Amino acid sequence: MHTSVKLVFHLFIILKLFSMQISQDSVVTLNYTMFDAQGNIIDKNHDPIVYLHGGYDNILPAVEAALEGQSIGQTVTVTMEADEAFGEIDPSLVHEEDVGLFPPDLEVGMMFETRDPETGEAAQFRVTGIDAGLVTVDGNHPLAGMKLRFDAEILSVRAATEEEIAHGHVHGEHGHHHDE
Ligand SMILES: [Zn+2]
Repeated sequence: MHTSVKLVFHLFIILKLFSMQISQDSVVTLNYTMFDAQGNIIDKNHDPIVYLHGGYDNILPAVEAALEGQSIGQTVTVTMEADEAFGEIDPSLVHEEDVGLFPPDLEVGMMFETRDPETGEAAQFRVTGIDAGLVTVDGNHPLAGMKLRFDAEILSVRAATEEEIAHGHVHGEHGHHHDE
């Protein structure tokens, strides 16, 4: 009698775990694959990614909206126009600089980071051209202007801890680590 009660109890726990749906303050672990409009894979996770769900700006809002209410084992597919993904291309972020400002081993494709001396805000840009002493730099996200498809497979869902909710990010394995 005792054994069967325990078994039922375990089954109940397992069923509950498997039916947990993604909602406000869920910690979600997933595998994802991102495709361009032609169906070519442009990004894929190596280790599963984990994020805190519920408007903490940890994941693209269109993806977050598609994941809402889903549970473990489900796969979601989100197709996004550029403005829902990494934004439209902003031509004002493309400009030319003197080649003398860059290190001598400069090559097209290199990434640089600048920091605004007033706000301290970091900005990244890519070298997209080098010609006649001028370097073309582009501060747009590499995926700006692209229509994307995002496929995600939900691996686990759990409730966030109070500390994670207060910090706005996930702690622990694959999560945020603090130096303490
Ligand atoms: Zn934290």
